[in-house]
Amino acid sequence: MKIVVCIKQVPDTKGGVKFKPDGTLDRAAMLAIMNPDDKAGLEAALRIKDSDPDNVEVTVLTMGLPKAEEVLREAIAMGADKGVLITDRVLGGADTWATSSTIAGALKNMEYDLIITGRQAIDGDTAQVGPQISEHLGIPVISYAEELKIEGDSVVVKRQFDDRYHMLKAKMPCLVTALQELNEPRYMTPGGIFDCFDKEVQVWGRDKLDVEDSNIGKVGSPTVIAKASDKVAKGKGEVVTPDSADEAVNYIFSKLAEKHVI
Ligand SMILES: Cc1cc2nc3c(=O)[nH]c(=O)nc-3n(C[C@H](O)[C@H](O)[C@H](O)COP(=O)(O)OP(=O)(O)OC[C@H]3O[C@@H](n4cnc5c(N)ncnc54)[C@H](O)[C@@H]3O)c2cc1C
Repeated sequence: MKIVVCIKQVPDTKGGVKFKPDGTLDRAAMLAIMNPDDKAGLEAALRIKDSDPDNVEVTVLTMGLPKAEEVLREAIAMGADKGVLITDRVLGGADTWATSSTIAGALKNMEYDLIITGRQAIDGDTAQVGPQISEHLGIPVISYAEELKIEGDSVVVKRQFDDRYHMLKAKMPCLVTALQELNEPRYMTPGGIFDCFDKEVQVWGRDKLDVEDSNIGKVGSPTVIAKASDKVAKGKGEVVTPDSADEAVNYIFSKLAEKHVI
């Protein structure tokens, strides 16, 4: 069984988001980490491998700057077998359409039974790339996986909804998007860290991708990010203790009127 896990290197937004004067993210000024949902997806793949190590191969794939090789090495130190880094200047400035087209263009030249992506990346936050990849490849997708197991030639997924869940089964090849709640990822082992640089990370440029030029990079991106800004911290609320219900109602109405809500 061949599993490919798509991993994105993202800025660690916990330390606050930094922007360049042109409004784009200043990624160099922020710590780069493995996207949390992707780490859970990787862990799910490694647990499938644990159950049948001789017949399951886990490949990790990322599209990004050459620096993104770091997350592949981290994934290999956790137990992945090999990595594919898709990097080329012409792929820069990609929106989700161009990103998913590029990744699908690589997957068309790889073998896979199961593709796992994260539900969402913590920087772009669109949750679009996973389902878009499945569309490009013409395979089924199950998103929001909070449980995942293999049953013969199919995957069985507990799909999360706000107030319930669905149990879904899809025949492979298929794509699943993983939630962080799926599991508690293992740590890199000292041996894994030691050996991860001996394992193969292939570097693929534009020539290795089965995709149209009109679907990659800035040229292939219908969405243009006009301006990005960090969330504005909410002001401290105001505590009021009205003496009566009527006073409370009047106070609320006066506030709504003040803010032109009514
Ligand atoms: C603040 C901000 C806002 C943005 N808004 C938009 C927007 O509205 N529309 C738009 O089209 N683009 C937008 N982008 C660009 C978008 O971030 C990139 O296109 C990005 O490569 C993919 O989208 P995402 O980060 O939302 O990923 P998501 O769709 O949230 O990612 C889902 C999963 O896909 C996989 N994946 C995503 N990117 C990669 C990668 N490079 N390598 C490997 N696996 C990957 C991961 O498993 C990830 O968990 C925005 C970027 C930023 C920084």
